[in-house]
Amino acid sequence: LITQQSQDEMLRVFENNKKLKEAGNASEAKLIVVSISVQPVLSLAARFGLAPQDAFSKLSGYLKSIGADIVLDMTLSEDLSLLESENEFLERFRSKLDGSKAILPMLTSSCPGWVCYAEKTHGSFILPYISSTKSPQQIQGTLVKQYLANTKGYRAAQIYHVTVEPCYDKKLEASRSDFFSQTEDSHDVDCVITSLELEQMLTSQNLSLAEVPPSDIDFPWLEGSSCVEQAPYRGTLVRHRGTGSGGYADHVMAVAAQELFQESDAQFNFKVLRNSDFREAILEKDGQVVLRFAVANGFRNIQNLVQKLKRGKCPYDFVEIMACPSGCLNGGAQVRPQEGGLQKELTAHLENLYEGLASHNPKSNPLVQEIYSWLGGAGSDKTVANLHTSYHAVEKMNTALNIKW
Ligand code: SF4
Repeated sequence: LITQQSQDEMLRVFENNKKLKEAGNASEAKLIVVSISVQPVLSLAARFGLAPQDAFSKLSGYLKSIGADIVLDMTLSEDLSLLESENEFLERFRSKLDGSKAILPMLTSSCPGWVCYAEKTHGSFILPYISSTKSPQQIQGTLVKQYLANTKGYRAAQIYHVTVEPCYDKKLEASRSDFFSQTEDSHDVDCVITSLELEQMLTSQNLSLAEVPPSDIDFPWLEGSSCVEQAPYRGTLVRHRGTGSGGYADHVMAVAAQELFQESDAQFNFKVLRNSDFREAILEKDGQVVLRFAVANGFRNIQNLVQKLKRGKCPYDFVEIMACPSGCLNGGAQVRPQEGGLQKELTAHLENLYEGLASHNPKSNPLVQEIYSWLGGAGSDKTVANLHTSYHAVEKMNTALNIKW
């Protein structure tokens, strides 16, 4: 894992590709695709004093200057992850309304720090509660290694796919066997690079991101498709409603309130409860609480929640869980505060930058329908196979030996 997922390995692949192209063997070179999450862009924007959109295009320029062929945003994958989470929750909650056995609360799965902890510490008890929807990183992996590979005429193994993420745990997620295709001999994500590693790469070259010439964010998704309408967010950095960790609780609650109870999102608000990392929203109808959602960040809140669940006293229908205090904007591999700065202030600054981005609704993305058509429709076997995953309780013996997952 350490070798596969290091910046040295990434640079080795980039360098090898360059040599192959220079030697006239371009057909043997890989197609290098880099997908960038929003949190690292904001982290590097703050570090180099840039506006988020400038940082995004300069990051694209930098990655292309060292060998990337295609640089992508991850809005489409984030949209699909939110929409699949929504479908999964509605299905679970409708079972409850029908009086069938419903596995609630549904716990989000996009944070590998949390999933790893759950698999190692709480075994098979907790796993059914965890959403089967893949994280945006892994949906992006499927889109790049299957959809994009198809439309560009490549085999999955001919594409080297790098993601830029806010934490090291995303490297662990990418290297799970669930996200490796035996038939294609290919990982959906070959290498994960963090904000911190990118900062190190830049500073080791005595480069400020501010000096780097910008380049467009590529948008290869509509090539050859019948979808003529272009995605309105194309090439721009956007935010989803809710937290800078993906906005799962806010999105799913708004849809559930509307679809299940015909109530608008004006009827509920996420409020801070026992600490700033635990927020709750309640929807009432005719004096009854009909939906109760929460956002739990940081291990203290996660442990409390799991204990309640074990005692059968967890009152929630849905919980967005993120291992880092303050969520992904404060991820463990985001750039540290500069001399004299405080982590708290930096996180608040990143939250402000996130708030300032153009708001984006997954349902307004025309490309989502294109992807569902390719998958045979929402809920089809192909959709489940490509946009969902499963979890595995780690053997007690491994836990006892403290083998890292
Ligand atoms: Fe990574 Fe932290 Fe976000 Fe979890 S909360 S995905 S560990 S940055």
